Amino acid sequence: MKVKFWGTRGSIPTPITAEQLKSRIAAIVMRIKASDLKSPETREAFLADLPPYLFGTVGGNTTCIEIRTSENRLIIIDTGSGIRELGASLARKNDGIREFHIFFTHFHWDHLQGLPFFIPIVYKKGNTLFFYSPRENLEEVLRNQMKHPYFPVGMEVFNADLRFMRLKNSGVKLGKAHIAWKEMKHPGKCVAYKISEDNKSMIFATDSEITTADFKRTEGNRRFFAGTDLLILDSQYTLGEAIEKYDWGHTSYSMAIDFAAEWGIKTLALFHHEPLYDDRKIYGILNSAEWYRARIENKKFKVILAVEGLELEL
Ligand SMILES: [Zn+2]
Ligand SMILES: [Zn+2]
Repeated sequence: MKVKFWGTRGSIPTPITAEQLKSRIAAIVMRIKASDLKSPETREAFLADLPPYLFGTVGGNTTCIEIRTSENRLIIIDTGSGIRELGASLARKNDGIREFHIFFTHFHWDHLQGLPFFIPIVYKKGNTLFFYSPRENLEEVLRNQMKHPYFPVGMEVFNADLRFMRLKNSGVKLGKAHIAWKEMKHPGKCVAYKISEDNKSMIFATDSEITTADFKRTEGNRRFFAGTDLLILDSQYTLGEAIEKYDWGHTSYSMAIDFAAEWGIKTLALFHHEPLYDDRKIYGILNSAEWYRARIENKKFKVILAVEGLELEL
């Protein structure tokens, strides 16, 4: 299966500011030497050598990830602002997909606000959108976000066929892929999803405050977490913030590292980046996480940053 990140920012869309852009350009200009400008190759090499926080960005869109199963079924988790770009990319590709399986972790704005902008998918006759959540009143919750005076049009303007699917405890099967879910600690609760196919598995656990209960060697925890190939985990906070913001429903990067080590995760992707932090700070968090990982037992796993546009294959 393939995973692609369309939105990785927590809480609120966070576009790069004019000030940040200016200071970034200034920092790049300061680094250029005459020899870097000699030929197209030296220019390429100069750009390739820049740190990712100067020549790149983690992105400002809120949560949306795309998963393609080996049978090319399209699974989407959450409809944050990142889903707008996913819609545009699907329109460009035009690869004949007519069924869209959209799973919701929970219904905070940052995970929902992009749905009316999933263009042209939701407005196209012949498309079917399957919405999944363990929530009983899923349809009501989705329709209510597009009501006057909060939004100019209601969900009835969607021409796609809409199906509202309440998830059972056993999860759901889509072809060869199985999607399981688990409730996590977050204000109003949040659901983590585990997708397994062909002996590969990934977990998406955003907006989750990892607690001691998640470390317990229960059968349920073992089945869900142990040995997963890719864990995309909320790691919005630094250690200091995690203490200060206890009970706010997010995890620190150091706790994320401990958790990945405990359950034998192969790759940990840090996710739900703090909107107060710029790219430099967020890449700094990755460095700190990497420093910490290298100093613990069971350190044989990879830590990466979930950034907009990143694609991973399992
Ligand atoms: Zn969130
Ligand atoms: Zn939330």
